[in-house]
Amino acid sequence: MANMITSELEGLLYGRELDSPVVKVVRALSGHGAVSTSQIARNTGLARSTVSTILADLKRSNLVVEMEARNPGPGRPAVAHSLNPEAGTCVGALLDVDEIRVIVADVAHNVVADLAMPVEREYSPTKAARVVKHAVDTLYKEHSLAYASLIGIGFAVSAPIAPDGRVMRSSALPGWQGTDFREALEPVLQKPIFADSESNCAALAEMMWGAASGSDNFVLLKLNQAVSGAVVVDGKALVGASGSAGEVGHIVVDPHGPLCRCGNRGCLELYCGAGFVAKMAADWLGRSIPVDEIVARAVQGETGFRRLLADAGEAAGRGLSMVGAMINPPLFIISGILAGAGDLLLAPLRASYEKHSFVKRDDVDEAHYPVFRVGKFLDNDNCLGAAGLVLRHSSRLK
Ligand SMILES: [Zn+2]
Repeated sequence: MANMITSELEGLLYGRELDSPVVKVVRALSGHGAVSTSQIARNTGLARSTVSTILADLKRSNLVVEMEARNPGPGRPAVAHSLNPEAGTCVGALLDVDEIRVIVADVAHNVVADLAMPVEREYSPTKAARVVKHAVDTLYKEHSLAYASLIGIGFAVSAPIAPDGRVMRSSALPGWQGTDFREALEPVLQKPIFADSESNCAALAEMMWGAASGSDNFVLLKLNQAVSGAVVVDGKALVGASGSAGEVGHIVVDPHGPLCRCGNRGCLELYCGAGFVAKMAADWLGRSIPVDEIVARAVQGETGFRRLLADAGEAAGRGLSMVGAMINPPLFIISGILAGAGDLLLAPLRASYEKHSFVKRDDVDEAHYPVFRVGKFLDNDNCLGAAGLVLRHSSRLK
C-alpha cells in the first residue's frame, strides 16, 4: 500500500507536467507541510474551488490527509491538509569536516530519526556516499521503514555548489573541488540527489520549521567559528553564478586587517565570529575557553564577556548594513552559537545596523523597517534544511 502511494507521489513530484494543477497542489503540500485550502490557492495561483476538488481527489487516493491546523486564524476552520506521512520519506545529510549527520523526515514534515557518524577528515566523495548509505540503512531498519519509501536525499555541503552541480573551492572539503556531486553520490544511493551549501540549507530550515516561518524574503547570518549567510528571495535561497551567494562573512571590512582562512584580509568573519570572541577571551583570561561557556557566562552577567558579544554584535550590524544597502530585506535571522546570547548580541547589532544603515528607523513606518530575530535552530539546522531541499524540490542535481 505505502509503496503504491510513494510511486504515485514520485510520479507527481518528478514528472514533467509542472503546469498541471494537481502537480502544483502536491508540490505546495510537499514544500509547506500542513496548509489550508486558501494557503494552497495563494501559493499556486489556482482558484480555491479548483484546489478543493483536487484535494478531495487526492484524499480519496490516500495521498493527502486532513489534520488540525497549527495556527488557525480567528473564525477560520481549524483544518489543514498535508501529504499522508506514510506516502514517503526523505533524508537530509550534512557533510561536515569530520562528521556526517543524517536525518529522516516524512513528507508531512515530521522528523522521524537522526544519526551522526564521525568520519576521518578529508574523506572522499565515495566514502561520503558509503557512510550516508550505511547511516540510512541503519535508521530505516531501526524504524521499520522501507528504502523504497525514500523519495530523495538532500545534502548540506560545507562548500559552495555551483548551479551545474560542481563543488567549489572550500577549506572544509579540500579534495572535493571540481567534483560533480551527483555523479559521485548517485551510483551508491540510487535516489534523486539534491544539494546546496550548508548556510542555504540552514536558511531553508528556518523558513520551513523555524524563525522565518511564513517569510519568503530574508537574510540569514550565522555566527559560528565560520560566519556564513544566505539570501532568500521569494522562498528560494540565492545560489549565484558560482554557488557563493550570501557569503556575508567574507565581506572585506578592513583591507589591511588580519588574513582570513579564505585568503583575503579583514573579512567580517574575523570581527564577529565565534573565533573572534574566543581569541579575545583567551587574550583577556590568559587561557582558552570554549565559546559556549563565554556565551553562558555573558548571559549570567559577566561584564567582560558581555562586552565581547556586544563588540561582535556591533561588527555584525555594520556588515548587515551593507547587505541592507544592497537588498533591503524585511527580516534578518541571526543564528549560530553566538546567537544563544539573545539580546546581548542582538541589541548592539540592531543599534549598529541603524547607525550604518542607508534607511533610518525614522525614515519609514515600523512595518517597513527590518526585523531582527534570533534563529530557532542553533544546532542541526543544516541537516533539517537538507531534507527541506527534497520537500521543496529545490537544488535538484540532474
Ligand atoms: Zn574571508
